[in-house]
Amino acid sequence: MSHPVADPDTSLDPPDWPSFRSDAHRMLDDICDYLEQIRERPVWKPAPRAVRDAFRDGLPHQPTALADAHRAFMERVLPYAVGNAHPRFMGWVHGGGTPVGMLAEMLAGGLNANLGGRSQMPVHVERQVVDWMRELFGFPRDASGLFVTGTSMANFVSVLVARTAALGPSVRRQGLGWPGAALTSYLSAAAHGCLTRAMEMSGLGSDAIRVIPTNDRQQMDLLALQAAIARDRQAGLHPFFVAGTAGTVDTGAIDDLAALGAIARRERLWFHVDGAYGALGILAPDLAPKLAGIETADSLAFDFHKWGQVPYDAGFVLVRDGRLHQDTFASAAAYLQRTDRGLAGDSPWPCDFGPDLSRGFRALKTWFTFTVYGADAIGRSISRTCELARELATRIEAEPRLELLAPVSLNIVCFRYRGRRPDLDHVNSEIVQAVQESGIAAPSTTIINGHRAIRAAIVNHRTRSADIEALAEAVLACGQALETDTLDAAS
Ligand SMILES: *Cc1c(COP(=O)(O)O)cnc(C)c1O
Repeated sequence: MSHPVADPDTSLDPPDWPSFRSDAHRMLDDICDYLEQIRERPVWKPAPRAVRDAFRDGLPHQPTALADAHRAFMERVLPYAVGNAHPRFMGWVHGGGTPVGMLAEMLAGGLNANLGGRSQMPVHVERQVVDWMRELFGFPRDASGLFVTGTSMANFVSVLVARTAALGPSVRRQGLGWPGAALTSYLSAAAHGCLTRAMEMSGLGSDAIRVIPTNDRQQMDLLALQAAIARDRQAGLHPFFVAGTAGTVDTGAIDDLAALGAIARRERLWFHVDGAYGALGILAPDLAPKLAGIETADSLAFDFHKWGQVPYDAGFVLVRDGRLHQDTFASAAAYLQRTDRGLAGDSPWPCDFGPDLSRGFRALKTWFTFTVYGADAIGRSISRTCELARELATRIEAEPRLELLAPVSLNIVCFRYRGRRPDLDHVNSEIVQAVQESGIAAPSTTIINGHRAIRAAIVNHRTRSADIEALAEAVLACGQALETDTLDAAS
């Protein structure tokens, strides 16, 4: 018999659960207050130096009371976030999040599930979402799906599966070699930059990208695409990958996916769709027809954290040929061995379909979002953002001091202020910064046909007509103030 020793208490659980619970309830109340009252807050404000300095201390070796750490969060972090939960955040294509998604994150955190694999219901929750997406996008039964951080990663995973399709699974051992050096891919000039990065990271190299110009609706020019493919074939190269975009990040343009799919089939190219934010438009009956052809994609990358309003992060990839997807990633390590029974059952595992082994429970917040709100409510909020974008476009067209710079095909409005000053690019940059600093709204800028544009991406389910009007008023007021300043300075 060994001698009993005093068990040293190194556990990180609270010594006093009632007091922990009371802190926990306070934290939940505070963040609910934040969401309930978000309209009354500025969208964004810059963090003062003292606040930044408070986060330069060294690693804390001694404990701090949970309530004090929470106070630091409330005072020094929460007020200085980007503000994408706010209805007047329109700067970039960021989702607004939901209170339900927030609670699901808390449950996932408490369970601390690791979704790499094994026999556990959390993996089945992820599989259920995969099934839902397969059905929603009209993919076949043997299509595979996987949660990843975001569309940047989903695009990368897709390029790797396409690489396997072109070179065979031996590319994993042998690398690209000569056959790989001949592969060429086709991206529209309006494609997201992360697709270029996916080519870099996959070893295919960005030199293998052919940038295809866009038409006047910012869609990939299909004749130019076919000409580029023909040119490359003539040069002895091997065209293998074309990416369409469902909702470009600058203007919300949707490529002609059906036509792209047909070209890809005829030319035996892998057809990828970057549907980062636009793909979920399929939930909105008025938008779904614009996405026709998405069901023909070999791979589809999109985010639940943008139009789907699931809290960050929740990217997703759907691959038509699940076998090929698995052949791209699955590996036989001893510690990943599968069994028919026990915890190592239920193969294949999510880790067989992507680069991550340890993975969080992103599926839970997505499952809660669809279950509690219903897919139709998400679809209605998506439709509404497009309606609001059209309202803003109408407001701009009725206002002589404002000018629309791109057609509004979805939920993104690009426009500019036209006043008496000739340096319009500079003026519009200044206006955007001033509006952001006012806390009234947060637009961003982009370049449209060589002109600096003010860009309003309406993604948030909380945004209303009054918020659109507030943005227009703020832009006009800041433009006016800039002109008055210069005229004052000149006199
Ligand atoms: C946002 C976006 C991406 C990148 O997605 P992340 O989730 O930020 O990684 C890619 N493509 C398009 C069209 C996007 O809008």
